[in-house]
Formats: sequence, C-alpha cells, structure tokens
Amino acid sequence: MRGHGAITRERSSSISSSSVDAPTPHCYCGVTSLIRTSWRSDYPGRRFYGCSGYGTSRKCSFFQWYDPEPPARYSDVIRRLLETNECIRSENRELKKTRQELLDELRRLQQSVHETRAELEAAVAASTAMEDNMLASVVRTRRHGVVIIVLISVIVLLIFFPDRSR
Ligand SMILES: [Zn+2]
Repeated sequence: MRGHGAITRERSSSISSSSVDAPTPHCYCGVTSLIRTSWRSDYPGRRFYGCSGYGTSRKCSFFQWYDPEPPARYSDVIRRLLETNECIRSENRELKKTRQELLDELRRLQQSVHETRAELEAAVAASTAMEDNMLASVVRTRRHGVVIIVLISVIVLLIFFPDRSR
C-alpha cells in the first residue's frame, strides 16, 4: 500500500514538472498550436502540440510533446494491453468465422431437411397410389373368383343333373 502511494506521488510530480504549465507554443506558421493526441507512438494517448492548420492546406511540421514522457513501466503496460487487445481481436475474428461456418452448416441442413421432406412426401404419395391399385386389384380378383365359382357350380350342376329339365 505504501508502495502504491509512492508511485502515485512520483507520477503526479513528474506530470506537474512537465511542459503542461509552460505557455502554449506557436507553430512555424506563427499561430498558436493546438493540443492533439497521438495514438501511434510507443505511448498511445500521449498528447502533443501540433499545427492548428492540420488537415487543411495551411499546415507545417511543428511538433512538440505536451505530456511528459511516461515511465518505462507505462510502455510495458501499454505493450501488454495492445498484445491482449490483438489476442481478443484475433479470437473475435475466429468466433465470427466459426459463427459463419455454423450458419452455413445450418443452412445446408435446412436445405437437406427440405429436400428429404419433399422426397418423403413423394414416396408417401407413390405408396398411397400403389395401395389404391392393390385394393382395386383385390376387388377385381374377388369378382373374378365369384364369377369362376358360379361358373363351376353351374357346370357341376349340369354334369350331375343333366336330365333334370326333361
Ligand atoms: Zn503551423
């Protein structure tokens, strides 16, 4: 705990002794410079004085740090944070890729289910038609059977009682 306090005091004292309290410098254009934030340096978020015409046709290459140089420890922390950030981005990309693959797979499965259902419906329709044919055939066969039995009966009657009508 005592160590933390020491670090905090050290940091705040190093900031107060920096150029923060110094008068705002003028850029090479002779205009009061503006404070901007650098995200590309070793210390992302470190502010600097730059030309007020930045982004327009009137600009110069004036550059002066506003924030003091942070302790080396800060650089390590930032580097680790950037690495962690890159890991998270990478994982996020992987997750998005996996999600897309799963969605594609789901779409393929849905298509497959759709096709299988259509095939099943066609098979059921064919089966039903076949069943109808079979039933019709059975009915025909029974009718034929009845006709044949009647004919046989008539023949048998004619054979065994040929003279009955006389
Ligand atoms: Zn300028």
